[in-house]
Amino acid sequence: MMAERLGTSPDTATSSAAELVPKVAYAAGEGGAKPFIVCDNLVKIYKVADLEVVALQGLDLVIQPGELLGIVGASGSGKSTLMNVLGGLDRPSAGRAWVDGKDLLKLSNRELNEYRRSDVGFVWQHGARNLIPYLNAFENVKLPMTLAGKAGRMVNQRAKELLETVGLGERMRHKLSELSGGEQQRVAIAVALANDPKILLADEPTGELDSVTALTIYELFNDLNREFGLTTLIVSHDPTLARHVHRVVAIRDGRMATETVRSRVNGTPSVTPGFGADADQMTEEMFEELTVVDAAGRLQIPKDYLLQFGIKGRARLEMTEDGILVLPADNVDLGHVQDAELLATGFEEAKKARGLSGLLQRLKRGDLPVIGGRGRKGGE
Ligand code: ADP
Ligand code: MG
Repeated sequence: MMAERLGTSPDTATSSAAELVPKVAYAAGEGGAKPFIVCDNLVKIYKVADLEVVALQGLDLVIQPGELLGIVGASGSGKSTLMNVLGGLDRPSAGRAWVDGKDLLKLSNRELNEYRRSDVGFVWQHGARNLIPYLNAFENVKLPMTLAGKAGRMVNQRAKELLETVGLGERMRHKLSELSGGEQQRVAIAVALANDPKILLADEPTGELDSVTALTIYELFNDLNREFGLTTLIVSHDPTLARHVHRVVAIRDGRMATETVRSRVNGTPSVTPGFGADADQMTEEMFEELTVVDAAGRLQIPKDYLLQFGIKGRARLEMTEDGILVLPADNVDLGHVQDAELLATGFEEAKKARGLSGLLQRLKRGDLPVIGGRGRKGGE
């Protein structure tokens, strides 16, 4: 079934958002919904002296309107670069980036400035980057409106309302030094909302907060998302992030690697012996991490999987009833296993493979990695 879907993926050559939709809808696994953000084969190269750093290497991402998306990834994987590109602070080097129908690669400098000011709200990790230290909370929230040329009672009223919305109605006249880290981030969120953005970008907003305070900030993002339908992207290192957002995507080496989706699974009596409780009450939340297959059919196999099975350079794909097997090409091609090389990986699993027959046995048992199947790994 996976092969079928890969085979029907639309051509990568597209020229407008409308043309992109079928492809991205395919990528998102959804039909029909008009996406709010589309990154298509997005590339960002930084040039430092003579060196080129490829921060985004053909990233594909589709975000629906009103989505609350989490983004995770190792340091240096390109998370901030993605936020900066989507926020109009940086221009991508190639590919496509659409936000609410605007092609970020085609905007003039003036249009990009306007986009950044009126469409985007930023929340950064460091309070200092969000806020002016010698102004109080109220003055900080008024500032972006003043800079946008707004004035008068309306501005005061909105600043007050925003601070109430983020739960700081009582602390409006406090200087930043008189506010806790969590309260400062609340002010930062109110500042980000001041000009009524369409998209809220938060780059490690809880990075300097303790876990309890971080939780209250996630709750606030959730409230804002529910109440105003604000499309929100949160970058975080928090391993529990999936609990606080609709979906989590993981970036690895400047590309989407995996996606964790939340699904509700109904408990069945055989799994959950109940005492007269009906099935609805046994609904539990499950988090499933899925590997992203991009429009060109590429996916990333985690390094430890590759090591474990001695796959490097090439792999052999094999169709099975349940999915696609990824096999070490060398071993299969040569018809024997190079024990030394497998042993060098230092994994118990690798040691079990003794020659092609061993490999085939494992294949039958189903403890080689299965891609796109029902997860026969583990051999149940
Ligand atoms: P993350 O936020 O996931 O830690 P970044 O997006 O900041 O990662 O960085 C991705 C890669 O791009 C890194 O290798 C980083 O060193 C590089 N990079 C980021 N910003 C710049 C810049 N302004 N100039 C040069 N290289 C940069
Ligand atoms: Mg970063």
